[in-house]
Amino acid sequence: MKSKRESNARFRLVLTLGLAVVLPALTLIFVNFQHVKSIQRDKKVEALIHRDFQYVLTIAAKKITSRAYEMTERVRDGFPADTDSDDEKRRKLDLLVSQNPWATYVFLFDSKKGIILQQQRDRMDDKEAAESAKMYTGWFSLEGPYLCEQMRKKSKPIIWYSGETDRPSGGTVYASTAIFSFPQFGRDHTVLGGVSFDPKYLKQTFFPELLDQLTSQTFTSDTGPNAQGFHELMPQEAIEHPDQKLAFMVYPADALKSEPDRPMVLSTGWGSGKPEVTYKLDDPFRGLALGIKFQGTTAEAISRRWVWQSFLILGVLSVLMIGGLVLTYRSVNKQVALARLKSDFVSNVSHELRTPLALIRLYAETLELGRITTQEKKNEYYSIIRKESERLTALINNILDFSRIEAGGKEYDFRETDIAELVRNTLDSYRYQIEQQGFALEEHIDSGIPPLKVDREAIARALVNLVNNALKYSNNEKFLGVKLYRDQSVLKLEVSDRGIGIERHEQSRIFEKFYRTCDPLVHNTKGSGLGLSLVRHITQAHGGDVEVESTPGRGSKFTLSLPLVNQTT
Ligand code: ADP
Repeated sequence: MKSKRESNARFRLVLTLGLAVVLPALTLIFVNFQHVKSIQRDKKVEALIHRDFQYVLTIAAKKITSRAYEMTERVRDGFPADTDSDDEKRRKLDLLVSQNPWATYVFLFDSKKGIILQQQRDRMDDKEAAESAKMYTGWFSLEGPYLCEQMRKKSKPIIWYSGETDRPSGGTVYASTAIFSFPQFGRDHTVLGGVSFDPKYLKQTFFPELLDQLTSQTFTSDTGPNAQGFHELMPQEAIEHPDQKLAFMVYPADALKSEPDRPMVLSTGWGSGKPEVTYKLDDPFRGLALGIKFQGTTAEAISRRWVWQSFLILGVLSVLMIGGLVLTYRSVNKQVALARLKSDFVSNVSHELRTPLALIRLYAETLELGRITTQEKKNEYYSIIRKESERLTALINNILDFSRIEAGGKEYDFRETDIAELVRNTLDSYRYQIEQQGFALEEHIDSGIPPLKVDREAIARALVNLVNNALKYSNNEKFLGVKLYRDQSVLKLEVSDRGIGIERHEQSRIFEKFYRTCDPLVHNTKGSGLGLSLVRHITQAHGGDVEVESTPGRGSKFTLSLPLVNQTT
């Protein structure tokens, strides 16, 4: 029966678990859940990735710019001096053109001496060259001084003239020309130099090389000073998946919306699709834009995976927490119940010890006083004293066995035994008691039972416990059946009664230590709740098991099964 104290303990446990563990854990999970949801709603992962993309593009653009400046400055350094003769100048410019195959042409404009323009002959014919020279002469004659003035204000005296131009052969190409001044000349003397980037070189070599360098640098730590920078800037998700490389594209800035399929250059791994983030290039490649995306995935997919993983982790955490909670609750519940059983056990056992002791003392004292005169009465008293002391012994044996089993120190002494005889002898010593209590004993022992290696004392104790239970838990019909027979390779010992029976849900629990059923008769009958747990331990130690079949109000049948082969020795 569950006491008030027990339900109090349970209530306190639920409260402690709830306040100390569940509430904080649930709050944490809930807050995290909301957090992940807000990240999903506000597309924060995408925003983070895009911000880093933007940064990568800024650095990429800087790299492109500095490369173009470097190349241009190298050419400018090779320009002829003012003191050189025209032929010398022409020769030096020619040399520059042949040394720098990426330049379509170079030119030197002098407001006093005119223009010299040397071109790559295989890419530009003389007529085209002459037209360009004419165009520059016209332009610089008018705006030369102004351009020089502009360049003086800049940190690098270079201005760029770039854009898409129609080719005479059809289609458009992107070209960029650097125009630079020479600071040694005064304001009244306009001298300008220039070098034009070959469109084919830009498209086939310059940008592809740079883009591939960027893609390979992104996630390898030893490919240059910028690599580390990229590493630090990449979103955490991307770093965790080093296979997520970046891909870049260069395209005419105004073409993406109108003609998304007209990229100028694609890096390796671009695959298909639009860039996630774009960046318009300034000089020297004004008019072009850079695009960036992941190779083979998108920021949205990464974000979706991240959100999904986060939810999964939170889900698993919740399940684990609930599981842990249920387990803790159940185990503490068990402990509470066990504590109750133990305290019941202590009061039962002390009661059980006290009653026979009191009886023994009472009858012994009565006999001592010599007041009993008839031999018959004396015999009756002696028999009561014997029976009570037997009960005491049985109880103490049970408790001792139980404590040995609990301590893991119970040892069995297996000997070849005639079980039929063992059963018969045990019953014989109880026959008188059985009959005196008004029980009908039906004994059925098969002949030809082979000898078996068992611990005699233990098996006898198991039988005594079962017989005692049958006697204790019968009220109306007083019947005790004991059957020993062979069922193929198993020896079966059945003890049945027609007593109060056991509810189905309690049938598996009666073998637990200290467990006693809720029946009022059980409540009023003395017992320790140890008997059946001993019976089970004993049979299992013999390699067998014990089963119960019972119908409440109709009776119970306990069956011990002991294997005849493969015995424990
Ligand atoms: P005890 O008899 O000392 O209480 P046991 O371990 O022998 O302890 O039995 C455990 C419980 O199983 C008993 O308290 C009783 O409720 C139930 N039980 C055992 N044998 C019978 C039986 N033959 N008929 C009805 N109930 C039984």
